[in-house]
Amino acid sequence: MKVVLRKVNTTPLDFEIKSNEITFKGYLQYDSGKLILLKAKLSGKIDVDCDICADEFKLDVDEDVEFFISDGIYEKNEDSLLDVVEVLNSVADLDEIMNSEIELIKGDYNICENCKKSDAAFEEAF
Ligand SMILES: [Zn+2]
Repeated sequence: MKVVLRKVNTTPLDFEIKSNEITFKGYLQYDSGKLILLKAKLSGKIDVDCDICADEFKLDVDEDVEFFISDGIYEKNEDSLLDVVEVLNSVADLDEIMNSEIELIKGDYNICENCKKSDAAFEEAF
């Protein structure tokens, strides 16, 4: 799903994208200057590899996603704590944003249920 940023105004623009077992649902809302707020929830299941045994398993995901999209280059303030993603062609590709969020989760430290159990047993033994 692609959104033309110029068309986003102060009325929240709802979106919902589904991909396999994942849903990315939220809204876009014009903030100020070139900035558009994206607030959404990523929920469902993602196939990830366990960092201990390397087995693939399904991770339950329920993540809040919130950042600003800048329509063009964003001149960052020194003390600005805003999380800003720049879009240079005035079109935000929500599928691409969802995929990069999924990749971030895949890159985290993920442990499968079996390893969690044996990890707990290991801790109990000491
Ligand atoms: Zn494992």
